[in-house]
Amino acid sequence: MKSHAQVVVIGGGVVGCSVLYHLAKFGMKDSVLLERSELTSGSTWHAAGGMHTINGDPNVAKLQKYTIELYREIEALSEQSTGLHMTGGVMLAATEARFDWIKGLVAKGRYLGIEAEIITPEEAHQDMPLLDPKCFVGAMRTVVDGHLDPSGTTHAYAKSARKLGAEIHRHTKVEDIVRQPDGQWLVVTDQGNILTQHVVNAGGLWAREVGRMVGLELPVLAMEHMYLITEDMPEVAEVNRTTGKEVVHAVDFDGELYLRQERGGMLMGTYEKACVPWSEKRTPWDFGHELLEPDIDRIAPSLEVGFQHFPAFQNAGIKQIINGPFTFAPDGNPLVGPVRGLPGFWCACGVMAGFSQGGGVGLALANWMIEGDPGFDVWAMDVGRYGDWATLKYTNAKVRENYSRRFSIKFPNEELTAARPLRTTPIYDKLKESGAQFGAAYGLEVPLWFAPEGVKDSFSWRRSSDFEQVGKEARAVRSSVGLSEISGFAKYSVTGTGARAWLDGILACRIPDQGRMTLAPMLKHDGKLIGDFTLANLGDDTFFIAGSGIAEEYHMRWFEEHLPEDGSVTVKAEGLGLVGLALAGPKSRDLLARLADYDLSDQAFPFMAISWMDIGMAPALVGRVSYTGDLGYEIWCRPEYQRYLFDLLMDAGAAHNIGLFGSRALNALRLEKSFGSWAREYRPIYGPYEAGLGRFVSLTKNADFIGKAAAAKEKQQGGKLRLCSFILAAKDADVIGDEPIWFKGEVKGWVTSGGYAHASGKSVAMGYVPREIAEQAEGWEIELLGERLPARLLSEPLFDPKGERMRGAI
Ligand SMILES: Cc1cc2nc3c(=O)[nH]c(=O)nc-3n(C[C@H](O)[C@H](O)[C@H](O)COP(=O)(O)OP(=O)(O)OC[C@H]3O[C@@H](n4cnc5c(N)ncnc54)[C@H](O)[C@@H]3O)c2cc1C
Repeated sequence: MKSHAQVVVIGGGVVGCSVLYHLAKFGMKDSVLLERSELTSGSTWHAAGGMHTINGDPNVAKLQKYTIELYREIEALSEQSTGLHMTGGVMLAATEARFDWIKGLVAKGRYLGIEAEIITPEEAHQDMPLLDPKCFVGAMRTVVDGHLDPSGTTHAYAKSARKLGAEIHRHTKVEDIVRQPDGQWLVVTDQGNILTQHVVNAGGLWAREVGRMVGLELPVLAMEHMYLITEDMPEVAEVNRTTGKEVVHAVDFDGELYLRQERGGMLMGTYEKACVPWSEKRTPWDFGHELLEPDIDRIAPSLEVGFQHFPAFQNAGIKQIINGPFTFAPDGNPLVGPVRGLPGFWCACGVMAGFSQGGGVGLALANWMIEGDPGFDVWAMDVGRYGDWATLKYTNAKVRENYSRRFSIKFPNEELTAARPLRTTPIYDKLKESGAQFGAAYGLEVPLWFAPEGVKDSFSWRRSSDFEQVGKEARAVRSSVGLSEISGFAKYSVTGTGARAWLDGILACRIPDQGRMTLAPMLKHDGKLIGDFTLANLGDDTFFIAGSGIAEEYHMRWFEEHLPEDGSVTVKAEGLGLVGLALAGPKSRDLLARLADYDLSDQAFPFMAISWMDIGMAPALVGRVSYTGDLGYEIWCRPEYQRYLFDLLMDAGAAHNIGLFGSRALNALRLEKSFGSWAREYRPIYGPYEAGLGRFVSLTKNADFIGKAAAAKEKQQGGKLRLCSFILAAKDADVIGDEPIWFKGEVKGWVTSGGYAHASGKSVAMGYVPREIAEQAEGWEIELLGERLPARLLSEPLFDPKGERMRGAI
């Protein structure tokens, strides 16, 4: 074994081998994979080998499509069969709610280039004669669906990687990973040591243990998973004989089952409700090519449904039940990318669907390591989406919830309950007493809306029990004044003698003068957005930044990667060390002026001003800005003052009929101003001009900020896309995101977010369309729940298009 390599990949499962293959393919041939046993010795060898393109996140769905399309390539290069069976499949709905969800998947597939169509239960029966059509209300026919041989596939990746120059060492266990003074990593194994710049944790079932070698507690947990294989079935033989083909794949969501042909019989797997984690605290190193004891009682309820929905199983003998462990992150998506604070340490773990996702994970990681960017939008699987609040116990609760709900519907207004409440702010109980219905974002309880006595969320694809109340909250803001909790935003302080120059080089905007704020896009080297913030200059080399709460770890990773080495700049994520309240609406100034020891007139404290001031007895950092697009203030304070300030503002606000509003009303308000939001309208695949943030990019400032050249090019050439707002002729449902946008009978774009803009009384959608057609007012439709609804493109925001309200001109 060599003593130095550019990259060491730990783990020879399907994921590690895919990473190695992609590294070698893109030219990093000095890459070594270390496997403690034989290749596939983790969860890979006993997988059912199924694959498909379905994922809740369209970007992950795209990477799944890439993975499946890759198999022919590695087969050809390695001359090793992957055992690929592209059977196609049917995804079945037994309820109307599930059918609505399936219609959404088909619609999404239209702009992702994923072939799928809605079919009747009878058509599904023709495709898959083992099912009973009476049990279903509808289905989706998929083309890119099938199964393969897990071992053959892993070896095909491995052989291809070797052919391209990479090395693989089996029976080489990594025992420690030690950071060297020069920043390299010493990978200590039972067969000698390797010095390397990059380490990839593809440890699968042992990913937690590999993480712990560098002091990292990764949010990963293995779950037991069972599938059964039947004896040969005459019904299967009959299908094979009459069609000349294999039985197609089937996913029966309501039965929580997946099925495929296995030789002359069938394979049926289930994600049972009574799920069981495996090795909750540490994975034993001596676990090898082993299976776990099957527990038929646990999967019996699902099998009963299966036997009903697929009657041929009633007469089939069970040949074998496989029970094996595999890992999940709390939300079920992989953990991929560089780890904050550990330069050169990368994750490729938590991959629960290695045969659908392994190729995409390898591609993204190799791009990231070589080019400095994954090359795709990998937010949904970025390891940076979790912070240190995702502890072992949190992960345990969330993974169980996710597993048991793997095939359950998650309605757009549904908030999952496991591991909650975890992070709360000081006014949590006060908000709760006022009827707050909370959601969790980045582990924090965030008020969504305030339910009147006796009213609760009822989950639906359509407008629901919160609709009326959210409307009241939004209208109260527009007519008088509303108060909301804004602690969920990420807050950063940037200090030091080098702070200003550093910000000038990392943000695309001009640095505001002391006491002023600006919107601040942050770009990657390719000129695409990696952040959108509000930047405030507090004087004395002190800056305050507010941004998306869910991206705190993600942005801190970027900030820290780009800090100067001379120690002249300090960036701190304030977390809940700084909490916030927002006032918004035409009466917000009158209210605050009565309590603040400060001149709040337009002259003294105009739009985008910021200052410390006392509100009552409490010191607070107040910025004159509001995401509602109205006259408003964001009030930041230390947590010990938040209860006092809340009571003070609510008591004094009674004179103006102050109303509490939650994030659903805020969404309704920002939509009618066409304000975008991070992870929806603003993502790392859009340029600032495409996203409508071009006016905050200063190409004329002296600083050579990251992404400047690419942004200049985008401005000159115009970019490919445009973010647009539409009014939709909606009936009883509003868009939520990822719906296709049609123009003159063709799918041309996609919705990023939407909802009902209550104060304007309109259903609104925001989304991207090609720039060439972005000025066309007519010809648009948006597909919602299987129906193409007429839409009108807005040439200006619905509410206060000139911004007079927020600037205080009216
Ligand atoms: C019953 C069952 C059915 C499944 N069905 C499907 C399916 O139909 N479709 C699908 O896509 N997925 C399926 N899966 C999931 C699939 O198996 C996983 O997604 C996949 O195997 C993950 O691969 P991996 O490479 O991340 O991890 P693993 O396969 O666990 O590989 C990790 C490797 O790292 C090695 N390693 C760990 N630590 C060290 C160390 N310190 N030094 C050296 N080597 C180390 C291990 O020995 C192991 O070989 C199924 C899983 C199970 C259990």
